[in-house]
Amino acid sequence: MERPISRRAFGGLMTGAVSTAALSVSFPAPAVRAQAGSSLARDLSKNLQGIAGDVIVDDASRAAYADDFGRIVHKIPDAVLIPRDAADLAKLVQYANKKKLNIGIRGMGHSMLGQAQIGRGVLIDMSALDSISILDNDRVEVEAGSTWGAVMAETAAAKRTLPVINDTFLSVGGSLSTAGFGPTTWNKGLMVDNTLELEVVTGSGELLRCSESTNPDLFLAVLSGLGQCAIITRAVMKLVAAPTHVHFTKFFYADDAIRAAHDLAFLAKDGRFNHLDLRSRTYPFGGLEYYIEGGAFYDDPDEPKLDDLRKGLHASSFEPKTWTYEEYYRRAETCYSCIPAPKPSLYLTVPASKFDAFVKNTLSDPSTSAYIAPWFSIWRRDAQKRPLARVADEEFIYRTQFNRVLPNSADIEAFLALNRALYEHARHLGGTRLTTSAIPFEPQDWERHYGPAWPAFKTAKEKYDPGNVLGSSVNVFAKA
Ligand SMILES: Cc1cc2nc3c(=O)[nH]c(=O)nc-3n(C[C@H](O)[C@H](O)[C@H](O)COP(=O)(O)OP(=O)(O)OC[C@H]3O[C@@H](n4cnc5c(N)ncnc54)[C@H](O)[C@@H]3O)c2cc1C
Repeated sequence: MERPISRRAFGGLMTGAVSTAALSVSFPAPAVRAQAGSSLARDLSKNLQGIAGDVIVDDASRAAYADDFGRIVHKIPDAVLIPRDAADLAKLVQYANKKKLNIGIRGMGHSMLGQAQIGRGVLIDMSALDSISILDNDRVEVEAGSTWGAVMAETAAAKRTLPVINDTFLSVGGSLSTAGFGPTTWNKGLMVDNTLELEVVTGSGELLRCSESTNPDLFLAVLSGLGQCAIITRAVMKLVAAPTHVHFTKFFYADDAIRAAHDLAFLAKDGRFNHLDLRSRTYPFGGLEYYIEGGAFYDDPDEPKLDDLRKGLHASSFEPKTWTYEEYYRRAETCYSCIPAPKPSLYLTVPASKFDAFVKNTLSDPSTSAYIAPWFSIWRRDAQKRPLARVADEEFIYRTQFNRVLPNSADIEAFLALNRALYEHARHLGGTRLTTSAIPFEPQDWERHYGPAWPAFKTAKEKYDPGNVLGSSVNVFAKA
């Protein structure tokens, strides 16, 4: 069986402006696991007889699941299940408990350090669970393997939309298990904040629905819960009215990241744009150019005026466009850096009061800025409420994202150690990590990361996944 695995990267491969001398040595050959024993294949076929989905045990098909977007961790699963319904999942989870087998869960595999992979155990490929139904004007129910692009296509046809959209090639389950940020997160929260209800298969194989009022302990342990307590099979998401058009302008700041970030903060206080993001791209002659994306949603014919939208900004130039809403939400569907190279990207949140110093330090030092392409956004903290989505605690916080795409000859371990050091620096300033980043983490690091949310998370883990069959790829809860 052949299965295309989506690989998309952030814009800008590397700055070209910095020295890599401090960090380049060699990249070890990928460690490829031995073949799965055929006894597991036979046993699986026997125990999962009658399920609607596919069980994959042949070598070539399993090998197609050996990488994620980060291309740092290489693991071939013993077997892959492509479930067609929640009953398939329940059956696998019950089998895994009986056999003490680990289960990994994969959405679109855009994690950086093996979070959606498994070596010893069965990997679930969620992509066939992709139905979408609009329940009413205010709610859409989606299966967890759907991509947001497919969800948007359905909802936009009904002139409705999600309050927060992230990159449309990502999966529902992967986004809700991490956090799901997008360009409207600055005042609308994360995707997990806009989730009304979930259907899950717990780690003990039970099919349950949960929300803020039904099984709330489970609901809060699953949203941003990295698949530790349950597998998300369906989500009910909030809908709002979709605008007909978006006035979308890029404001350019040459190489001045801090000036651009200050204008971003100004815009978040001012509120003139719905969509707010700050990105960088590589100049053809090397170095980085920073730009703010400002998107104002409107219904035709009430297009806002560019002169009003650019008031008070310090951009040196700008590039306006008028898009239909469909053109707007489809803008990122092309693959702009899908190359098979290691990508140890780092996503942090940093309190706004500490952002300037942290970013200046990182970008001015050649040993920390090698191959970097930073992207930022600013978020209002009060729009975020889910306990496991750990973000810095200040009125405004910056998502501080350092993308890196490395040559195969780079010393990956050195870059992972650098990520850890940058994370520790940010943490010292009151910052946090986002969970799909490439930062090596042990269970004690996770306990510290979750902080006050840890006791309830641990209790939910013991209640809903007592055999600890889920989530070992992320190493949050130590195996006995
Ligand atoms: C090019 C690119 C663009 C990105 N853009 C964004 C963005 O716009 N917004 C954003 O928030 N993040 C973004 N990310 C960060 C992040 O990697 C993704 O949010 C995350 O990987 C979710 O997408 P996925 O479907 O690929 O999930 P995966 O990487 O497949 O899974 C992520 C985690 O969720 C678990 N999981 C997956 N499905 C389920 C399920 N059904 N039930 C329980 N657990 C599950 C996995 O085991 C894993 O631990 C981006 C990453 C890349 C590489």
